[in-house]
Amino acid sequence: MNLDIDVAVTVDELILWEGTPMPAGHTARTVTDGLCRAFAEHGLQGVYGFAHTSPVEDDPALEAVLENWCAAGHHLGNHTHHHASLNWLDAEAYCADVRRAERWIGRYVEQAPVRYFRHAMDSSGQTEAKRGAVEDFLREQGYTTAPITAWFGDFAWTAPYERAVRTGDTEALDLLRTSFVEAAVGHLVWHAEAGKRMFGAAFPYIWLIHGTALAEELTGEILARFRELGVRFVPLETAMAHPANRSFAPVTRLFRNHLQRYALAAGEPVRSVEPEALAAVLDAAPVAGEDSLAVYDGILRRVVERVGGTYDWSWA
Ligand SMILES: [Zn+2]
Repeated sequence: MNLDIDVAVTVDELILWEGTPMPAGHTARTVTDGLCRAFAEHGLQGVYGFAHTSPVEDDPALEAVLENWCAAGHHLGNHTHHHASLNWLDAEAYCADVRRAERWIGRYVEQAPVRYFRHAMDSSGQTEAKRGAVEDFLREQGYTTAPITAWFGDFAWTAPYERAVRTGDTEALDLLRTSFVEAAVGHLVWHAEAGKRMFGAAFPYIWLIHGTALAEELTGEILARFRELGVRFVPLETAMAHPANRSFAPVTRLFRNHLQRYALAAGEPVRSVEPEALAAVLDAAPVAGEDSLAVYDGILRRVVERVGGTYDWSWA
């Protein structure tokens, strides 16, 4: 297969959410160092990271992670302070959270060639009016919204991977590592196919990976597989020049990225990992009384509590 596509790589959550399981031996610093090594190996420069900033408020020493990322030649964009979905807050509170992030990340955003903003969870909010009010605010502040047009649900691996490392479950470790890379490849192919069907031609996709322990270990391998598939890596600025990335698909309250919102509106399915394969990931390395989805739900509920929003979430 030759995809023959351009892809801009982006990283969200250089510092993960409060309460996110992290295996022993991994920290936000080892993860970003691992990502920087993988990018250097594949010639990627000026990669944009989108980091919410509440972890830096909680532990100011973590600012060194952001500084280190920029010192390696990469850039940072605003990703809100608390990482609350636009579905959970009104426009005013959401914009206040964008402003609050600037206290910690503002000087790094200023250093970047473009002031990019990425919505938490790439959420659109429930109404065009609310999204419009936020987009007006962002434009007034000089931000350009950078969407996601290819992802692979990589956060699903976080809790089982920590359990597998903790319990030394080598079979689960193999399954999780292999399925992580295969899901990255499969989802890129499926997003690229859906994009070509909808727009009549490929456009530069904006790919997302989170700053997890598995990303530290496997991003180099994933990028190598992408290259074998005919992927050319381009800067985010290049991808953002395409109207498919700059314009706005109709809003949905569902958990969908920018390309999936176009697909939803167009009645065009985007393939995803089979439910059984996803269940095998979530249930890998079982430990009595521990449930992956309960862990993820707890992370989101803590965000809602901190920001004073209304919890409204479905994984579907
Ligand atoms: Zn995020």
